[in-house]
Amino acid sequence: MQNIEKNSGWRLINTYKELPSMFYSSIAPTPVASPHLVVLNHPLAKDLGLEAKELEQQDALEIFAGNKLPVGASPIAQAYAGHQFGHFTMLGDGRAILLGEQITPTGKLMDIQLKGSGPTPYSRGGDGRAAIGPMLREYIISEAMFALGIPTTRSLAVITTGEDIYRESSLPGAVLARVAASHLRVGTFQYAARWGNTDELKALADYAINRHYSELLKIKAENRYLSFLIEVIKNQARLVAQWQLVGFIHGVMNTDNMTISGETIDYGPCAFMDTYDTSTVFSSIDRQGRYAYGNQPGIAQWNLARLADALLPLIDKQQEKAISLAEEAIAGFEPLFNSYWTEGMKAKLGIFNSEAQDEALIGELLKLMQESRADYTNTFRALTLDKYEDMEMFKATDFIEWRERWQKRLERQGKTKADIGKLMMKSNPSVIPRNHRVEAALEAATRQDYSAMAELVSILRNPYEYTPEKEAYASLPPANSCKYQTFCGT
Ligand code: AMP
Ligand code: MG
Repeated sequence: MQNIEKNSGWRLINTYKELPSMFYSSIAPTPVASPHLVVLNHPLAKDLGLEAKELEQQDALEIFAGNKLPVGASPIAQAYAGHQFGHFTMLGDGRAILLGEQITPTGKLMDIQLKGSGPTPYSRGGDGRAAIGPMLREYIISEAMFALGIPTTRSLAVITTGEDIYRESSLPGAVLARVAASHLRVGTFQYAARWGNTDELKALADYAINRHYSELLKIKAENRYLSFLIEVIKNQARLVAQWQLVGFIHGVMNTDNMTISGETIDYGPCAFMDTYDTSTVFSSIDRQGRYAYGNQPGIAQWNLARLADALLPLIDKQQEKAISLAEEAIAGFEPLFNSYWTEGMKAKLGIFNSEAQDEALIGELLKLMQESRADYTNTFRALTLDKYEDMEMFKATDFIEWRERWQKRLERQGKTKADIGKLMMKSNPSVIPRNHRVEAALEAATRQDYSAMAELVSILRNPYEYTPEKEAYASLPPANSCKYQTFCGT
């Protein structure tokens, strides 16, 4: 495959290829018929040191189609395994190819991956392709998550391929250019532990430490891998707390979809919850509700225990000692998660300090919300705006009494109304990617009308802004709309 002439700011290396060869397969993207740019993320391009204007030119956008390679690219598919709905299996990038790692102007390394770029040795019979809907969905939601301040992989561009792909019906094919701190997953470690020797496992752990936790290099080697596990646990506890706080439901928290960096990854069947109900599930394949909203923290902990299993040989040579250290680390997830979550909830309620009754106050509100099927985002929006209109719950005596207790709690902390208002505004999004809005944008996109998507993305860029233009995007779907269902993006 030909490298393109014009550089557009690409500075790619591929440190992943320094790992033992079991961790990847060299494979080039499969070219497509007729690439057309749907969306390019200008602010992200700039952060990566790329020239957006040049990337939009036809020969540069051939890169996003996999028709040409940027200078320095060295494409690979990564090998990994994972527990899918609790069952262990061999996986790997079946429809994604890593072009390389971009050295950003600030010296960071960011993976540049094409998703939907053709089959790889790990494809297991799939076509390696992706449809426009799921790729744009990932673009919209991952960028919304970023704007919400939640660690996430990002979306640099989506192109249509000019080729149809066949699922239940014929759909326009598309490729997403995804950007990540790395694509190391819990499942990458499971793969190493299952099929590699200790040296290979250690090489992977050292790579992850170098890339994401380099401060651990100061620690004595014999304690380093336990500390590594503890750092991943911390990042994931913080991440899942952030998901809970905005009502984000990942939908497919398999261990291959959990990163070592602590970024949210794999926006397949994810969605934001409207009505507050801890048993909410959107994914059509999650029939048991394994990945329901309320189960996310427990599942994260279970996944991290799988990481701990994989790391045992590095944690201590004596297996029993390794197990007991790992168990202690995993038990630490719950208190960490609880403290991140409680701090976040207090901020949502405008609370700066701590009182013994705070957790009860939070719990009472959530109980009322669940009982009256209140909208999650709009409840906190109303509390922030101090405007209690169109929701049944606000008329209930229980809520009015709760509100009085909350107001008294706020008065006891010696903060001005303005301080409290500011804290609440930056903790409660005024808008989230509402499912009906996302669907409307995607539906228009299949007719090559990208205007709704562009507007939605622009609204979601500043989710903590309480401006009049946000109003329309805060409204709920019509009451008679059917239960929202999501599908894996295959
Ligand atoms: P995901 O749901 O994206 O986490 O995918 C789970 C696994 O199935 C990964 O190994 C994917 O690479 C693989 N996969 C999903 N869709 C396809 C496809 N269209 N062609 C080939 N492999 C796929
Ligand atoms: Mg995945």
